[in-house]
Formats: sequence, C-alpha cells, structure tokens
Amino acid sequence: MERETFGSPGLGGVDLDPTVRYVCQRCTACCKWPGDVRLEEEEIPVIAAFLGMDEMSFIGQYTRLRTNRNGLSLLEKDNHECIMLDGIDCRIHEVKPEQCRGFPNKWNFPGWRQVCEAVPVKVG
Ligand code: SF4
Ligand code: SF4
Repeated sequence: MERETFGSPGLGGVDLDPTVRYVCQRCTACCKWPGDVRLEEEEIPVIAAFLGMDEMSFIGQYTRLRTNRNGLSLLEKDNHECIMLDGIDCRIHEVKPEQCRGFPNKWNFPGWRQVCEAVPVKVG
C-alpha cells in the first residue's frame, strides 16, 4: 500500500505563527516519510563538497529526479528513509537542504503536529 506523503515546501497549507518557534526533538519522522527531499541547485555543490565528492558523482550516487521532474531530490532507502539518515543523525546536517532546515518553522502543512514532535516555545 502506498504510504502517505506529508507535504513539502512547494505545497500550500502553510500556517505560521510569528510568536511561536518550534524546537526540533530529533524524532526523525520528517526524515522518514515518503516524498521528495528537494535539492536547490545552489545546494548541490555545497553538499557534494561536504561529502568530499565531485558534483556529478554526488548526483549519480545520491539523487533522483523529483516527482514533478522539476529538479533533484535526495534518494530514499527501501524503507522510505532519506539516504542521508544514519540512525538519528543526518550525515549532512551542517549543509542539509533548505527543505529540511525550514520545517516546521518556515513551512508546514495541515495536520503536521500529529506527525512531528517539535515543542512550541513562545518568542517575541
Ligand atoms: S518531525 Fe519534527 S521533531 Fe521530528 S525531526 Fe522532524 S522537525 Fe524534528
Ligand atoms: S537531508 Fe538530513 S535532515 Fe534532510 S531528510 Fe535527509 S536525513 Fe533528514
């Protein structure tokens, strides 16, 4: 059976409250749900260099076309985890894509709090 995909920055449904910041609890759910982990063009050389690879090798080994064929995504493992997830750690944490950095504070989707353990902290 097809597993549910929980949104991406390209979709609507963003519901942001500037007075609340959600602090990630490293539950890794967002690294495990099916769907694209979008790579922006400028992120590719940075991640390749971080891994000590040339761009073409990185693209060949770790990426695929996005579902909409409009750019690249990181590959997933057979169990749908992101290829860069290593236990509870991200192998490219220091240079991870904006899609990863931005969730859930810069983008999210209806119902996201049911699938993310981030804790709200009042700011401002
Ligand atoms: S789902 Fe939420 S709490 Fe879990 S790793 Fe992702 S952002 Fe952090
Ligand atoms: S790149 Fe890192 S933070 Fe982003 S989905 Fe993959 S493992 Fe998670």
